[in-house]
Amino acid sequence: MPHGTTNAMERGPETAESPGTSENRGSRRELPKAYDPATVEERWAAYWVSERLFEVKTPDPEAVEKLRREGHDLFTILLPPPNVTGRLHMGHMLNQTEMDILTRWRRMLGDIALWLPGTDHAGIATQMMVERQLAAEGRTRQDLGREAFVERVWEWRRHYGGAILDQMKRLGASVDWSREYFTMDDRLSVAVREAFVRLYEQGLIYRGAYIVNWCPRCQTAISDLEVTHEEQQGKLWEIRYPVIGSDEFLTVATTRPETMLGDIAVAVHPLDERYTHLAGRMLRLPLVGREIPVIADEWVKSDFGTGAVKVTPAHDANDFAIGQRHKLAAISVMDETGRMNAEAGAYAGLDRYAARKKVLEDLEAQGLLGQVREHVNAIGKCSRCGTVVEPRLSTQWFIAVNKRPEGAKASIAELAIAAVKADAAGDKAIRFTPENYEKIYLEWMTNIYDWCISRQLWWGHRIPAWHCEACKQITVARQDPTQCAHCGSAEISQETDVLDTWFSSGLLPVTVFGWPPPAGQSTADLNAFYPTSLLVTGFDILFFWVARMIMLGCWFMQDVPAEDGSKRAFEDTVPFREVYIHALVRDADRQKMSKTKGNVIDPVEIVEKYGTDAVRFTLASMASPGTDIAFSEARTEGYRAFANKIWNAARFIFMNVERAREAGIEVDRGVLGGMPAVNDGAPLEARWIAARISSVAAEVNAALAEYRFHEAANVVYQFFWGDFCDWYLEIVKLRLDFGDSADKAATRAALTTLLQTFECALRLLSPFMPFLTEELWHAVYEGEAPAKSIALTRYPVGAAHSDDGVETDFALLQELIVSVRALRKDLGVEEKAVVPVRIRAVQDEVALFANLEIVQRLARVSDLQKVDAMPEGAHLRSTPQFDVQVVYEKQIDVAAERERLSKEMVKLEKGLASAERQLGNAAFLAKAPPHVVEGLRRQEADTRLLMDKTRKALEDLG
Ligand SMILES: [Zn+2]
Ligand SMILES: [Zn+2]
Repeated sequence: MPHGTTNAMERGPETAESPGTSENRGSRRELPKAYDPATVEERWAAYWVSERLFEVKTPDPEAVEKLRREGHDLFTILLPPPNVTGRLHMGHMLNQTEMDILTRWRRMLGDIALWLPGTDHAGIATQMMVERQLAAEGRTRQDLGREAFVERVWEWRRHYGGAILDQMKRLGASVDWSREYFTMDDRLSVAVREAFVRLYEQGLIYRGAYIVNWCPRCQTAISDLEVTHEEQQGKLWEIRYPVIGSDEFLTVATTRPETMLGDIAVAVHPLDERYTHLAGRMLRLPLVGREIPVIADEWVKSDFGTGAVKVTPAHDANDFAIGQRHKLAAISVMDETGRMNAEAGAYAGLDRYAARKKVLEDLEAQGLLGQVREHVNAIGKCSRCGTVVEPRLSTQWFIAVNKRPEGAKASIAELAIAAVKADAAGDKAIRFTPENYEKIYLEWMTNIYDWCISRQLWWGHRIPAWHCEACKQITVARQDPTQCAHCGSAEISQETDVLDTWFSSGLLPVTVFGWPPPAGQSTADLNAFYPTSLLVTGFDILFFWVARMIMLGCWFMQDVPAEDGSKRAFEDTVPFREVYIHALVRDADRQKMSKTKGNVIDPVEIVEKYGTDAVRFTLASMASPGTDIAFSEARTEGYRAFANKIWNAARFIFMNVERAREAGIEVDRGVLGGMPAVNDGAPLEARWIAARISSVAAEVNAALAEYRFHEAANVVYQFFWGDFCDWYLEIVKLRLDFGDSADKAATRAALTTLLQTFECALRLLSPFMPFLTEELWHAVYEGEAPAKSIALTRYPVGAAHSDDGVETDFALLQELIVSVRALRKDLGVEEKAVVPVRIRAVQDEVALFANLEIVQRLARVSDLQKVDAMPEGAHLRSTPQFDVQVVYEKQIDVAAERERLSKEMVKLEKGLASAERQLGNAAFLAKAPPHVVEGLRRQEADTRLLMDKTRKALEDLG
């Protein structure tokens, strides 16, 4: 179908049948006047998914070898899986923008780029979501029973669980949707079970005591997420504990006197001089009569209460930790309903609050109650029923992270430390950006406790362990057993706990690539994609998730051979080579976003208003390692204007290509796709823009290689808006002559450079603004693009700034034009008026005089006269290279001019002082690179010269 007879753009790319037909692509004749992000974005987002553009087939070893020989690599990145219950927030948007920029960039560089998406089953969050649904129906999960409830959660997930990934699709994330996983998929569940069984067989999983949050009403353990913390006015009671073998008392302070029945010690700070004489002494526990020791522990705060605290490991998480450190027993004095149990002696059967009252009365009667003070305590309440949560000792499952199984060279934690710590040669298997997170990570990993992996939930991977009624032993198995492995009894029942969600997500870097392989082998995906290249994530899940992936990845991959069957090198057992920890997105006033403050910005709303590209660009332009982002809508509005500016540039270019065609000048599109090529004889602006885009491309590549997104984005922005639109496009208009007497070769050459540069700039911008650039790139090719997407073309690499004088010459020209424009403004020259100027060049500045027509056009100059001396009293602008004067009759305002020159003088003096200060600083001179010092010297000389000129001009004014 010929161009122009149908509106190809409105039909949309999703109707594409084959990539070779032209009707499915944007035709440049049809570009509407204004850019409408909503329709354009939706169309391409759907196209990228339906065309399966970002799917990656597992390359075989030969293909990988060939790729590397050609200087490319594999770039693999895992999406931190959002919760199935999730809705997209600004943190996701930032995280995904950064990952998408890097993935698109690496893909365009010629790497095999795989970005792998999925969702997390999010145990507690999802279970609560469904329980709330049930509550609305007046039912509980217990009413349904475990099996029916879990089925109900699956149903919920089928209906709503894809929402967040649908949002990602609309935002154009270039992930491989064919590899999408869910952490409860059959395949991943089998792998999770295998991991558990192996760790159990290696003796690294055990059951032990642990303090959990317990709701006495719901009679279940609840996670920290389900506890609402409140401040409440309470009391602080002092209780006097008699010291055995003396008439002294040790007075403790407590907010929960009833738990004293379970005390096993009293702790003081080791440096607290009030109590040093009591170290090692025994106390008589009032009301109970048990002998308990005085212990010293650094956790005790000397300035709280009396500086002596009772230790009740079964009823307080901190006390539990003290108990563990001092290897003390724990005595539980309450049952699961919050009533005192038999251990509470005379108080057994009483509710915890009734017991408190009775304990206080009895202490009072015995003269052992000291002062009572008002005290504000933080209490935890069950988020479902509002009952005060009771810390409760329970049996949980753990991974022994510091234990070396027999025959193993290292524990899980030791491997996880080695993965991040520099080895003897200074090499690190995993590198963090910003680097300071390495220290934070290592400190945590060095002091790590065993990992509690069990949760009292119904939704999740149920622990594959069976308890035997007969012999009380445990059977852990890959297949559901029918009898006890120890005594053969059939009276076995499966553990009711499920695994911590972080256990399965910690395994993702291996499970998504097909782990576990058959013994002694690897999988094709592990061979190709493991270790992944990079992890982009937030600080909040550094310990929950990043650390666990390193622990489990290093542990399990040490048993998976390398591709050639040899033992895998340690640096290839890590889950990722690099970790980039991104910052927080705050509001425009740098406040943390929170629902209570009402300052939460919904990315979906902002995207609807300004377009995805503008929001992405806002985030990218502020994303520098280690710096939080103050998100301002005004900025996004600015980047929407940027998109419009590029759109208008495209319209201008396409219109001229069309005019040229009508004049019999056809531009060869076959030359597009690389860097713009110009020969030495080309006009200055053509040589300049070609040099500029090359050095800009080099800068962008260098910045992205170090995650300096802000720098990369800002360089592209300056290039497109300033260099390309404001300067180059304005000058190139001079060369576009379609008249009968025109130099057709010159017009064709100018148009070719224009189109080449624009096409190249679109590719440069593409990872940041994928939608706009996709639309315009197809339009450049008028529906006959050489690839299905700009995302599949090559990224401009460029070369660092080459000093052949072109950029210097052009800069001088720019300076002259800016000076003349400023003079015109000073003199009040009418905008349209064309005026002569006089110029005195310090040296024979060829660039100025060889490009008169550029100055004439951009500064509305009729005639540029070269003079050897400026007339006395002339109103002029000076630079170290030239003085320029606008010849204009209008009388200048002497007072205003004097003020301007005086201000200029002050500025110059400051500049000079600063340069002199630096040049006089020996420490600076010793450290600064020679070209910096050289630049400063030149600046100093130039400033002196300008000061002379300005002084002279001031004198001339009289
Ligand atoms: Zn409750
Ligand atoms: Zn048994």
